[in-house]
Amino acid sequence: MSALTDPKMAKREMYTHSYVHRGKDPDNCAACALNLKSPNYAAWPLLYIAAHRPMPKKAFLDDVADASQDNLLYLQNIVDHLEEYGHPGWLNAH
Ligand SMILES: [Zn+2]
Repeated sequence: MSALTDPKMAKREMYTHSYVHRGKDPDNCAACALNLKSPNYAAWPLLYIAAHRPMPKKAFLDDVADASQDNLLYLQNIVDHLEEYGHPGWLNAH
């Protein structure tokens, strides 16, 4: 089990800010990186899907299009996640 496959761990990863930074070092905090309009965190769609959290649509489409150009396993992983956990919906449609 990891945060990518366990909904509880995925949610914890998203909402638990590193106690070290206390608002001073958001660049090194996973929760901060995951909560940007365009999440700056490797494989963020997998975490969002596992946590069933609506995803920012534009960021999702951009990142998946980018990553899947040279990494079909990344795309397959996303498809597998959608099949297993269902689509969490979109945060915004724009
Ligand atoms: Zn943070």
